[in-house]
Amino acid sequence: MRLFLGLIIIVMMFSNCDTPHKQSAIQKSVISESVINQTIGTIRNNHPNADAIRIEKGVKHVASLWWPEDGDEETFKNFCIERFIADDAQLKEFFERVSMHLETLFGHLNLMALHLQKPIHLKFGEVLPIDVAFGGYNAGAHLMEDLYSNKIAFYIALNFPYYSLNEKELSGQNWSREQWAYARLGDVFTSRVPAAILQNYSQISTASELYISQYNIKAGKLLTDDGRTIFPDDMSLLAHWNLRDELKANYPEGEQGLEKQKMIYEVMKHIIRQTIPADVINNPNYQWAPFTNSVYKNGETVNLQSEPDTRYQKIIDNFNALRQMDAYTPLDTYIRRNFEGSMEIAQPEVEALFIEYLSSSLLKEVGSLISERLGRPLQPFDIWYDGFKARSSINEEVLSEQTRRLYPDAEAYEKDIANLLVKLGYEKERANYLAERITVEPARGSGHAWGAAMRGMQSYLRTRVPDNGMDYKGYNIAMHELGHNVEQTISLYDLDYYMMSGVPNTAFTEALAFIFQKRDLNLLGIGGTNPQEEALRSLDLIWATYEVMGVSLLDMRVWKWLYENPKATANQLKYKTIELANEIWNDFYAPVYGINDEPILAIYSHMISYPLYLSAYAYGNVIEFQLEEFLRNRAFANEVDRVFSLGRLTPNHWMQQAVGSNIDIQPLLNAGAKALPEVKSN
Ligand SMILES: [Zn+2]
Repeated sequence: MRLFLGLIIIVMMFSNCDTPHKQSAIQKSVISESVINQTIGTIRNNHPNADAIRIEKGVKHVASLWWPEDGDEETFKNFCIERFIADDAQLKEFFERVSMHLETLFGHLNLMALHLQKPIHLKFGEVLPIDVAFGGYNAGAHLMEDLYSNKIAFYIALNFPYYSLNEKELSGQNWSREQWAYARLGDVFTSRVPAAILQNYSQISTASELYISQYNIKAGKLLTDDGRTIFPDDMSLLAHWNLRDELKANYPEGEQGLEKQKMIYEVMKHIIRQTIPADVINNPNYQWAPFTNSVYKNGETVNLQSEPDTRYQKIIDNFNALRQMDAYTPLDTYIRRNFEGSMEIAQPEVEALFIEYLSSSLLKEVGSLISERLGRPLQPFDIWYDGFKARSSINEEVLSEQTRRLYPDAEAYEKDIANLLVKLGYEKERANYLAERITVEPARGSGHAWGAAMRGMQSYLRTRVPDNGMDYKGYNIAMHELGHNVEQTISLYDLDYYMMSGVPNTAFTEALAFIFQKRDLNLLGIGGTNPQEEALRSLDLIWATYEVMGVSLLDMRVWKWLYENPKATANQLKYKTIELANEIWNDFYAPVYGINDEPILAIYSHMISYPLYLSAYAYGNVIEFQLEEFLRNRAFANEVDRVFSLGRLTPNHWMQQAVGSNIDIQPLLNAGAKALPEVKSN
């Protein structure tokens, strides 16, 4: 996990969307076409040698952001004429100053948030209610508003116009680093969503998260048809994450495991269809037999109401809240803002890549292999088959003894970072440089990496360190977070322009985090213990990608349908979601599973609380694999340094410059084809 994503997230945090707003709706721009044209004409006359397109783009950009409260048309016109910078050298100087000031603002706000959240994130004694209040306070919440009212935003927007993703994709290849940095500054002031709309979304989003965070299934209270309980009495499973993880954990358990898996899937279907009795959610006072859908209290049958489609109402609430922003950005749907805006890959491109992958004939072969290994026909929930994990033959407790000895506290791990980096291939001096910029602290939760947002600031690695030292799980997570911290340090400190700092999107930093995490045993001096490790790993990634691309496709299709049917009720959305899930299943899973009409892809909680985020995971898998392939047989440290100092290009340009090809599923599929016979022959 990574808590802070450099500039890309900071900009989104404060501006929410990252593109200019369209001329429509309530607080709309008031500047007429004729005033815009007069302004452009005057500036062109004043600066006959200046780039005419830049003048036009800049003036139109400011006009799109200008509200009545900013002044009348005369004020607008004079502002543009006075503030336009025609001279290249002056523009460059202006750019450097702006970068410096934005680094000050973003960096210190980030540092403040880090400090205000310390009692929540670190082992700090009890969390007081006042800590929660400060932790939830965002000191930068009004930053964007302020920068518009003092007209700094307009000054920058006029001189650094916004380029759409399409423009970046088409022209970016020929841009200098400076032109890229200018374009990134042009991304900062692009949309101006009224505060009331942002606040409303924030409330709706929090309510959805709360709904999901309390959706616990009391597994210990589930009954088989013949009245047996089969899970530990106090077991409580959060939907869908813990339900899925428990399902995965039961693969080695034979017939008993299968019985539990089938019951979990039955529960999932009740959640999807909303036939789950509302009062059994997060409530240990009833016993529930999901196969007959009957409920008991103290041995007596009771009749409970089903959940009233709340799951789908939450999606509609999110849709309505996000749709209100459409009028204030040129990316005029949330679908476009999520894909073209945040991920910087257009939605049709994403969908096409997923369909190409899901249609691969290799999946059928992997499916047969799984069925063979399980000794039974595939079940729908085998989308989570967990048997390709190359588990170490070394007992985890033995590993923990070693890590506890090496790392009795967080400080010991921090001191060892340079040494770990040397083992990964870094020169001593460079390893020290990176290590000096990373601080390790004992986490309250499972751990995360908090990146710096200005030079001079540390990145923070937080992992669990119990009083008797860091166990293997803590160490394994620490290695993941270290990958993030190294990326965070390179992509801030080793960049030519602050405006370029960071990575194209979250998938890219996760890729390095997983690459570090995978090397954890090697770094403990334990070599590969399973000769099939690599082949198993490829098959595992192929199967996991198969699953997540299906759920991502459903997420996208649900949102497309919502935009076509904006007045849909929760009940209509429920039936449509199930229909779409079945359709995707029948197209891409039924040929492998031999079963039709399974709604399992609709169970993901992300669809409720993090709309359209799932596709980022699928891309993460693809990018991680391509990057790992590229690093193989190359100088690891040099290449990691080189690719992560590319900064925030668009994903496709980044991949081109990093590994010499676009984002591509073929390397993963090729590795799978190579791995199949190796694993089969065993
Ligand atoms: Zn991570």
